[in-house]
Amino acid sequence: MNERELERKARVAQLLLDAARSLGETLEPDRVYDRFHDLLADVVPHDGVLVSSYDEGDGLIRCDYAWSDGNRLDTSVFPPLRLNREGGGMQSRVIVNGEPLLFNDVAEVVQQPGTYYDVDREGKVRKLPESGPPGSRAAMMVPVKHESRVVGVVQVMSNSAEYSHEQLELVDGLVHQMAAAVRNARLQKEQRRLEAAEAAARAVAAEREQAANVLDAVGDGIFLVDLEGIVRLWNRAATLVTGLGADVVCGESVTEVFPEWEALVARIPVAEHGAAARGATLPARVGTRDLWLSFVAVRSADGIVYAFRDLTGERRLEEEKSDFIATISHELRTPMAAVYGAAQTLLSRDSELTPVQKREMLEMVTTQAARLGQITEAVLLTTQLDRGTLAVEREAVDVGELTRSTVEAMRPQLPPSAEVDVEVAPEVGTASGARDRIQQVLVNLLDNAVKYGGEGRVSIRVEPANGVVRILVVDSGPGIPFAEQQRIFEKFYRSGPELTRAQGGTGLGLYISRELVQRMGGRLDVRSAPGAGATFVVELPRADVEAHLFAPRA
Ligand code: ADP
Repeated sequence: MNERELERKARVAQLLLDAARSLGETLEPDRVYDRFHDLLADVVPHDGVLVSSYDEGDGLIRCDYAWSDGNRLDTSVFPPLRLNREGGGMQSRVIVNGEPLLFNDVAEVVQQPGTYYDVDREGKVRKLPESGPPGSRAAMMVPVKHESRVVGVVQVMSNSAEYSHEQLELVDGLVHQMAAAVRNARLQKEQRRLEAAEAAARAVAAEREQAANVLDAVGDGIFLVDLEGIVRLWNRAATLVTGLGADVVCGESVTEVFPEWEALVARIPVAEHGAAARGATLPARVGTRDLWLSFVAVRSADGIVYAFRDLTGERRLEEEKSDFIATISHELRTPMAAVYGAAQTLLSRDSELTPVQKREMLEMVTTQAARLGQITEAVLLTTQLDRGTLAVEREAVDVGELTRSTVEAMRPQLPPSAEVDVEVAPEVGTASGARDRIQQVLVNLLDNAVKYGGEGRVSIRVEPANGVVRILVVDSGPGIPFAEQQRIFEKFYRSGPELTRAQGGTGLGLYISRELVQRMGGRLDVRSAPGAGATFVVELPRADVEAHLFAPRA
């Protein structure tokens, strides 16, 4: 190698190094082409440059960059070319062989079979050779490679000059650098795109989370029913009110969640297009709960959003109030009318009445006045229990003896047909409680057993059991339906009108009894099968056991 050649090689090397640095600086694939072209312009005179990429997937060659006579051209004017495997067409030949080409006789080359185009500075494409001689005289074609596969072609053309092999070598070197820079820029761009997508996804997720947090923080239940009728959102308050978790509800049909949804939804007005929503308060069964819910519904793009508030407590209070007024007015009216009627008769027809009739009337007045007193007493006691102002004393009570004496004391007031047995097991022990309150409970249970227990016998058993004294009041009447066995302990609750309305009552007896027993540390429950009588069970803590438990240690 002579000195000139050596010097040239050194210059080329220097140039390529500079090129690598310069090309590597930009991260926009498009700008890399511009720089490549600038670098090329400094070392190889030319009138046109074309950078194409080849996609193995669809076998098409597409133009990525085009420049002609001082103008950058819009690449869309170049139709994608199908690779010609036989090597027809200059680009195809380079892609198939993977070797650079140099022509100083373009006019002759385009006579050979294949597809050839010429593009002028306005970007006008003409097919060669049909449309006349080509504008170019010389051309260099260099393959762009990635991991030894050809992924594109760079074409450099001159209208007047001829190209040398040294120039081809130089262009080859530059293309190499450019390909690396483009690849790098594309990777970076893809990376940035991924990062941006990830950041956007994170932002959306954060926004959703924020919205979910807000929804969770609101006290009202909120859920979304999509256009297919599937529940898509169920906030924390909805879970608290209904006892159903979002994990159970979301993805389910709304009719699974609210079994009576069709009837419910027909009564909830849906606010459209920003109009003010009107609420509807409805009884709703959700899962296993029966609730009073106040609903508001608003249409959204994804379906209908429902907000609801639990008004069961308020509703119950209202029901209680109206029950209270209904019961009291009904229960008071009968004895008051009787007292008033008797008193009037005694006043106005005193002379016509026999002493026996007068006595009967006065007895009636006494009984009805007592009944009035009982009702007032029950209402007063209920109020005290509700307010927590009732003090229940605790003493050791011999429940066996108390039961016997209570039944004996009640006998004269019971219907003559009522048969009541008392059985007290041995070693019952004493219970801890207030004697008069236990008696009150017994009176109420016995009274009910006689009132509702039909014709059959009532038996009362007192027995010891596992640290408690147990009293069982057993009747053989119609019993209590399972669904009502808890409700009969609610305030004012009276079941089956045909059974109960005939009998006077406030529906407070069992409520008071259970509250009293609980205040003595015990419990009151019922066991019953319809048609097979009812057994009310009172359990009170044993006085000796309690004393033992709570005795200070010596
Ligand atoms: P009241 O007797 O004033 O109605 P209670 O609270 O004592 O109120 O009883 C509530 C309801 O429970 C009664 O109305 C009755 O329907 C039902 N009940 C109570 N005891 C019995 C029983 N032994 N057998 C059947 N039903 C009963």
